[in-house]
Amino acid sequence: MEDADGERPTLALNGVTVLPASLTRLEGAQYALVMAGAGERRLAVIAPPGSAPFNDFQGTASEYQDRSLLLCPLSERNAAALRRRVGWLRPTPLGQRTSAGLGDRLGLATPGHLQAMRAVGGSLAAMPAQQSIREMERTERTPQDVMDDAMWGILEAGWRAGFGADADHLKTTADIDRCLAAGYTFYTFDPGHYVDATAERATPAQLRTLLGELPWPHLEDAPATLAARYLDRPIWCESHAIRFDEAALLRAAVKYGHAIAHVVALSRHLATAAAGRPWEVEISVDETDLPTTPAEHVYIATELRRLGVRWVSLAPRYIGQFEKAVDYVGDVDAFEADFAVHAAIARSLGPYKLSLHSGSDKFSIYEACTRQTQGLVHLKTAGTSYLEALRTIAGPEPALLRAIYRFARERFEADKATYHISARLDRAPEPATLADRDLPRLLEQDDARQILHVTFGSVLTVRDENGTRRYYGPLMQALRRHGSAYAANLRAHFVRHLAPFAAYARG
Ligand SMILES: [Zn+2]
Repeated sequence: MEDADGERPTLALNGVTVLPASLTRLEGAQYALVMAGAGERRLAVIAPPGSAPFNDFQGTASEYQDRSLLLCPLSERNAAALRRRVGWLRPTPLGQRTSAGLGDRLGLATPGHLQAMRAVGGSLAAMPAQQSIREMERTERTPQDVMDDAMWGILEAGWRAGFGADADHLKTTADIDRCLAAGYTFYTFDPGHYVDATAERATPAQLRTLLGELPWPHLEDAPATLAARYLDRPIWCESHAIRFDEAALLRAAVKYGHAIAHVVALSRHLATAAAGRPWEVEISVDETDLPTTPAEHVYIATELRRLGVRWVSLAPRYIGQFEKAVDYVGDVDAFEADFAVHAAIARSLGPYKLSLHSGSDKFSIYEACTRQTQGLVHLKTAGTSYLEALRTIAGPEPALLRAIYRFARERFEADKATYHISARLDRAPEPATLADRDLPRLLEQDDARQILHVTFGSVLTVRDENGTRRYYGPLMQALRRHGSAYAANLRAHFVRHLAPFAAYARG
């Protein structure tokens, strides 16, 4: 086995096939991913007999030329051992680099994602490990599973440019601890439960009552000092004067005050628990019903700064609709005008990146986002990688896709509850009307896309009477059989996402 420096890579190794981009030579040992039959990947370690790697890795040993070969399962222990040795397999903070989160429900998408990253070039930074706690629960994966799957994909792709790992939508200190243990570097705090939406329609008298109920000691503040910071003068963010009258300040404070206190608690917990390990933070308030106004954005950023929170990106709730798996719904010009003000606030009060959640398939606004932020932006995508997996099997495995689609339709009304989507069952094609050759069209029809998108958790975890997952195993096996087609589909899909960001990327 020779790595990229070698004269002639040997691609067969004691009966297994080496995935050539994964070949890594370091400190006298060689590491590679190999296919060990039936689409199963193994880690191959070649080193002198009795040397240190043989104590760290767990696998089956055999002779290879004058050295020893260990064939290791892709276990948590072997992932940890490899990460200790190979620096570029450890995530790092990405700071203010233009970046893209490439979430993956299944754990097989990273090689395709990184092909897209390579194709667009530039200094765009990647976060191939990114799932929310909610998504992990729905797919029965742990933070460590997500991290390790991404790492094996990074090794397989031969990606040595570094990466970030996003512990997405964390709501509690227990969430933080689980993700710290798994080595995440990017912590997205979601105080959504603490945002008080009733502030939107409350009367002035109600707002004054609610203001009195804010956790003032935790906010290290009092109503009079709050008023003194905001009233009577505009806050300038470049050319935008953000003005608070009493009503606007009351509304912002009541709506977000509890959320500010919660983020402060999460942030201080992380700083202590991480104990010298590298980390960075995103603040996300994107999952509210009504948009975050510029004044509310100023309030959130000003208060968090005053309380010592440091963050690299922030996700307001923007105007328009960010529905799953379809393009932006709304007036693109109005979006850009509003987004421009948020970008000016982010530069003036940070600088920090603006983050786009539910960012898959929002092709009509990417240009505006990169232009207005001048690359100070982070894109999050996740669900459409699952749709590309379904597209990949639509041709070669029509019976499986048809069964998944039928089941998704059964689950749709229940599963859509936690999403803002406008898909309707009666507008999506009836399974019985579709010939096998027409199944790929499901991935082009917006209603069917959303139906398939929001039911991923049910599809991946439904069990037959004997306890085996009905669709998960067949889907994973099919994707392993058609791995290069899956990667090609992901590459084509994500080049369209990433190219506008790479064009503005800040290194
Ligand atoms: Zn989000």
